[in-house]
Amino acid sequence: MSFYEAVDPVFNSFVMGNAPVKQLATGFDWVEGPVWFGDANCLLFSDIPNNRIMRWTPGEGVTTYRVPSNYSNGHTRDGLGRLISCEHGTRRVTRTEHDGTITVIADEFEGKPLNSPNDVVVMRDGSIWFSDPHYGIMTNYEGFKSEQELPCQVYRVDPDNGDMTAVVTDMECPNGLAFSPDESLLYVADTGKMFDPHAKRHIRVYDVAGNGTANGRHFHTIDPGAADGIRLDEDGNVWSSAADGVHCISPQGKLLGKILVPELVSNICFGGRGKCQLFITATTSVYSIILNRQGVQHP
Ligand code: MG
Repeated sequence: MSFYEAVDPVFNSFVMGNAPVKQLATGFDWVEGPVWFGDANCLLFSDIPNNRIMRWTPGEGVTTYRVPSNYSNGHTRDGLGRLISCEHGTRRVTRTEHDGTITVIADEFEGKPLNSPNDVVVMRDGSIWFSDPHYGIMTNYEGFKSEQELPCQVYRVDPDNGDMTAVVTDMECPNGLAFSPDESLLYVADTGKMFDPHAKRHIRVYDVAGNGTANGRHFHTIDPGAADGIRLDEDGNVWSSAADGVHCISPQGKLLGKILVPELVSNICFGGRGKCQLFITATTSVYSIILNRQGVQHP
């Protein structure tokens, strides 16, 4: 059985026939938030229900990086290589400094606590953009059940003064987010309200305008499943989680092909040598595949 499915013939050139989907580690409960540290040659990822961040090192396997992790979910790195993390348990976004101390980036908006920051990206100008859906406060499974006081929005944190702006306010539950290679577009996945059988599962795209967004429009609806985590390659193709693996969507919104993964996929990131290795967090396991594609690096 093939490990991929080409919907458009161009997808056959994105994969290599002898570079399969490989399970790197397993035994977790629900993994998300992969982030590659090339300088340390390791991948960090969240095992959310077990309140920990794990580290996978090629040839060595998995060790625990941080416990408790405050039920961390999505991660990324800033321009200085520092870890930026979304935490459900403390309802905040943090930065881990080079000396290991934790700096709080955001924990409230207009005097109200955030819901449960989910996913985060950093622009080349140093601004931090993160989604704040309610998933981490709806149950005690991935955080602490709490009252929701803010709508589910995407925020931008200014790199100079730390001011927060709500930049996407027209989605039900914004989740994964990513910039186009030139940072002129922001893609945001909506996974809809928890426990809603008709939950949204589309990706919208916005023009980046000044310190905010404009002209939001539908980009693509994932089927089967939903777009939780998304990342882009150097040519602007959007790679998204789905129920049957990872889908690759052209900049025009057309499904090009699928990487088939045996577990429900949550998040993805590019890393490894040449940023050609796609790391895939999927339910109880982490997988990867080396592609004939290169991931976009921000910042
Ligand atoms: Mg997410």
